Amino acid sequence: MPDIPVWHKCDNRCVMCTNGPEFARQEASQYGLRCQVGKLERYLSGRYGKVYLKNPDKPFFVSLTGGEPTMHPEFIKLLAYFRRRLPGTRLTLLTNGRRLGDKAFARRVMAVAAPPFSLGVPVHGPDARTHDAVAGVRGAFRQTMAGLRNFMGLRAGQELEIRVVLHRLNIKKLGPLLGLLLREFPDTAGYRVVLIHYEIEGMSSANNKKLSLRLSDSAEAIARLRPLLARFAELRLYHFPRCVLPADLRGLCWVTLPEEDRLYPPGACGGCALRRGCAGLMKDYAAVYGTGELRKVRR
Ligand code: SF4
Repeated sequence: MPDIPVWHKCDNRCVMCTNGPEFARQEASQYGLRCQVGKLERYLSGRYGKVYLKNPDKPFFVSLTGGEPTMHPEFIKLLAYFRRRLPGTRLTLLTNGRRLGDKAFARRVMAVAAPPFSLGVPVHGPDARTHDAVAGVRGAFRQTMAGLRNFMGLRAGQELEIRVVLHRLNIKKLGPLLGLLLREFPDTAGYRVVLIHYEIEGMSSANNKKLSLRLSDSAEAIARLRPLLARFAELRLYHFPRCVLPADLRGLCWVTLPEEDRLYPPGACGGCALRRGCAGLMKDYAAVYGTGELRKVRR
């Protein structure tokens, strides 16, 4: 899935953002409509290795990322262009969802976002206090929730993934957050929930004292919520080595990070029965917390 960074700035200041401050300081012109069109046309001509840095070799899925893509001054035109040039390719828009809280804007987005299209939106907590503290902006929760409601009301075949990035600031609120989703969006067949252990990179690395959460503690908190988890039609776990989870939750794990960002220490993983399909350990995590939580599983 090539990740296409659509815009370099964001209107949130998330404490666990994986971009560093240098990202937002880049030249805006390299993200302009003309440059974006030039890049995609080069990519489509087969010279993709030089165009997109992340996941360039997986042409069947495209993630539109940022920064915040919807802040692009010509976002609607850009999205319409991607849709037209990549017919049949799944486009995933990773957004904080705030601008979609404006119904007129949400309508314009949905008018050009023909399926296969999915929206990935993070929700950081069950209330404004928790969410806004993580997002770094007062009012973000209200706008993001309005954006989700607008999307649900306007969509015609587009899919939704609600993402919860877990760290110390919100792990204790995971139960209430899942409860909020069930109340707000009770038809759980209409979306997927993804619980993601935070990555230690960019701002999250600078803020790791605040965010610090071990995978085993994250896994334990998730396991305690089994009855709630079971109420969602589809729930996934990203960034978890399978051995830190109880056996009945391991089937929820997905491998999403590129191979170069993952580690399989031979002492733990050599001969492990769960090795196939396991996400292993994030390298940046291992650099901070070591590898001691991994436990080889024998048949
Ligand atoms: S020991 Fe290694 S291969 Fe086995 S489950 Fe843990 S991380 Fe995965």
